[in-house]
Amino acid sequence: MKTVKLRNTEKEFTVGKIVCVGRNYADHAKELGNEIPKFPIIFLKPPSTLIYDGDSIIHPTYSNELHHEVELVLLIGKEIKNVNLEEAENAIIGYGVGLDMTLRDLQNEFRKEGTPWTIAKSFDTCAVISDFISKEEYTLTGNEEIQLLKNGKLQQNSTVDKMIFSPAEVVKYISERMTLEPGDLIYTGTPKGVSKVERGDILKCLISNIAKLENKIE
Ligand code: ZN
Repeated sequence: MKTVKLRNTEKEFTVGKIVCVGRNYADHAKELGNEIPKFPIIFLKPPSTLIYDGDSIIHPTYSNELHHEVELVLLIGKEIKNVNLEEAENAIIGYGVGLDMTLRDLQNEFRKEGTPWTIAKSFDTCAVISDFISKEEYTLTGNEEIQLLKNGKLQQNSTVDKMIFSPAEVVKYISERMTLEPGDLIYTGTPKGVSKVERGDILKCLISNIAKLENKIE
């Protein structure tokens, strides 16, 4: 079982679902040649794929195009179903930074065939997560920078207010379709600048005031 910690508290959560949002920054939807979505695009990762700051990301042998996606991650603190925006906001207990590693070549093939992307998004080590800062300690302003550096070079650089669907809107939407429980994580989508990684690359992720990560591809 994988767990995550709320920094500066004794609280630790066993991770339940990992729910991810696709195409939640307009500039990233555009760079992949996709339309701006009218509702959040949702997919799941198994919690067993989760790794932490400093762990190695293992490049699967069956793909030639592993991409990085840096994302703001929400930690859910209470059980909710079918909630309004205010209740959705109140269910978010903390913020972290995560990496949604993606096999872009397989994802594109599956999209062409109209079959699920699951295999492109759910291999071992595909979800990297930091610890979380508690909402009691920090209020999200939207001005936080979200960045990814590949081997020291700035590759993704945006602010979290560029999301099409806000954290509360995403949580509300998901809660209308599946019960969310304490310990569930929500990856809220990535800004533009996704790129292919090679074995040996070092990825550094940062969301200002929230958390950072450093992971190597092996
Ligand atoms: Zn993503």
